[in-house]
Amino acid sequence: MLAYIGLGSNLNQPKQQIKQALIALNSAKDIEVVGLSSLYQSKPIDGSKQPDYINVVCQINTHLTALELLYVCQNIETQQGRVREKKWGARTIDLDIILYGVQVIASKKLVIPHPQMMNRAFVLVPLAELEADLKVPVLGPIQDLIAKLGDIELRKI
Ligand code: ATP
Ligand code: CA
Ligand code: CA
Repeated sequence: MLAYIGLGSNLNQPKQQIKQALIALNSAKDIEVVGLSSLYQSKPIDGSKQPDYINVVCQINTHLTALELLYVCQNIETQQGRVREKKWGARTIDLDIILYGVQVIASKKLVIPHPQMMNRAFVLVPLAELEADLKVPVLGPIQDLIAKLGDIELRKI
């Protein structure tokens, strides 16, 4: 199964955190990282006073189920010292499953496509870099989603 993971960090050397998480993902059983977008810098989504985020989207090939993949992602977050404080608060690392093949999932623990992806330039732009003509299940062509975003405050680094 081809899936996309969005990674973000804004604490304790964000670039290093992202690199470490990518290595951990690629080392996990039944996950192979097969594609990686550029790095992007963005402002916190809630406009709060916290450091800018570094984001990247990677493409993986996996034999895991979507839920197993979520647990791997959460383990990596825990290993890298993520503390869950307030919603959208600063964090060492965040791994979100953006897409899992063409599957549509809406369970208590897992919603795919990621429920906020259409609102987030830091997800859509790197995703389009990896697959420019992607058709997102339910939501439609990635280029249409980007066109609907309005002002894109995102810096490729
Ligand atoms: P956001 O979801 O708006 O990006 P966040 O990443 O800060 O916010 P978290 O605290 O990391 O939110 O995650 C909250 C819960 O979201 C997780 O415990 C997980 O069960 C759930 N979740 C639902 N869908 C997904 C998904 N596609 N990828 C990752 N987590 C998901
Ligand atoms: Ca997130
Ligand atoms: Ca998350």
